[in-house]
Amino acid sequence: MRKPNVVILGGGYAGLMTVTRLQKQLGVNEANITLVNKNEYHYESTWLHEASAGTMHHDRVRYSIASVIDQNKVHFVKDAVTSIDSSNKKVILENGELSYDILVVGLGYEAETFGIKGLKEHAFTIANVNVARQIKEHIEYQFATYKAEVEKREERLTIVVGGAGFTGIEFLGELATRMPELCREYDVEQEKVRLICVEAAPTVLPGFDPELVDYAVEHLQRKGVEFKLGTAIKECFETGIVVSKEDEVEEIKAGTVVWAAGVRGNSIVEKSGFEAMRGRVKVEKTLLAPGFKDVFIIGDCSLVINEEINRPYPPTAQIAMQQGITCAKNIAVLVREQGQMEEFAPDIKGTVCSLGEDDAIGVVFGRKLKGMPASAMKKVIDNRALFMVGGPTLVLKKGKFKFL
Ligand code: FAD
Repeated sequence: MRKPNVVILGGGYAGLMTVTRLQKQLGVNEANITLVNKNEYHYESTWLHEASAGTMHHDRVRYSIASVIDQNKVHFVKDAVTSIDSSNKKVILENGELSYDILVVGLGYEAETFGIKGLKEHAFTIANVNVARQIKEHIEYQFATYKAEVEKREERLTIVVGGAGFTGIEFLGELATRMPELCREYDVEQEKVRLICVEAAPTVLPGFDPELVDYAVEHLQRKGVEFKLGTAIKECFETGIVVSKEDEVEEIKAGTVVWAAGVRGNSIVEKSGFEAMRGRVKVEKTLLAPGFKDVFIIGDCSLVINEEINRPYPPTAQIAMQQGITCAKNIAVLVREQGQMEEFAPDIKGTVCSLGEDDAIGVVFGRKLKGMPASAMKKVIDNRALFMVGGPTLVLKKGKFKFL
């Protein structure tokens, strides 16, 4: 009997979790498993704010996919997916195509700029390792240029972060941590540096516990972050942004603008004809795309409804990894043509938002945490994610062990 071709697109949290579970569950003779990813490495998206601020080297954020897959069972293809032809069960790559019997789409997120003029052209988004490195180097370039130029443009030392959600706050926490060292390195007076957070909503970290939010805001303000809440970015230029609050319009000149206020699923999903909302497909409980018996969609390309509040769960690595586990089980059911597919139910253990190297806020197993204990918990969570994919070897190689 012909072995089915199982093709997994994307080596992020969702895709890699699926593959590493599947390689344990299926024998060599049961299926041909192929993983496609743009790069030969996986990166921890949840650490990208650290690489972007320069508090962590970009190489620490990534590891080779070959080091965590069983190459006797999984064929790895380094290539970029351009589209999915579900009528002919084919995936079109930049350098060829692949046929599948079972497909998993785990192509991750893209920035959502909500049509705000100039953002795509002039703002950075913390999208991947290469952009993280670019953000870090751009900030350093602005500091170095400021120091070298005769007619000084102080706006080079202004960094605007659009969005006070999880990503924006974590990035600001890292920037604020790094600023004293960066100013020393470039011989810049820290009083001249402005870190500005612009948020359209009236509050920081919407949905988070208000006491913890106050703690985060005070902590960041103490480290020099200015918050402009209830303020919307209207336009972005090479030299800054225009914002408005109620009827007042203000121009803020800035050397660096980072947009951290929205993500959507990979646009390949919509381009390939799947019905989606901002690139996210409302999947069945089995994680199959509606109307498909052979296409699973997981991670940030999927949308799962929290039935308690009838709203989608925010896209997280936590959910992406849990979906990978269910998806692998369901693929084994399809391959073996026996058993029943599992229904996916997120098990939210908590959320911790880092505020820099040794501070954080969070709620874990219903308990509120802040300061050092929250920061230590964040590192435990980061190490656990490594452990789930690559076991103790990966934790020892890439883990975070500076708890105090
Ligand atoms: P990803 O992890 O983004 O993986 C997608 C993969 O697909 C990547 O390897 C990419 O290279 C590959 N790919 C993309 N396009 C193509 C293509 N065309 N062809 C081939 N390969 C392709 N979540 C949490 O739970 N906790 C946190 O603390 C947290 N912090 C975050 C901090 C930051 C700064 C950011 C940006 C996100 C954070 N998140 C956090 C969200 C989390 O990172 C995402 O929800 C998670 O990465 C989604 O996993 P995924 O597998 O769907 O996508």
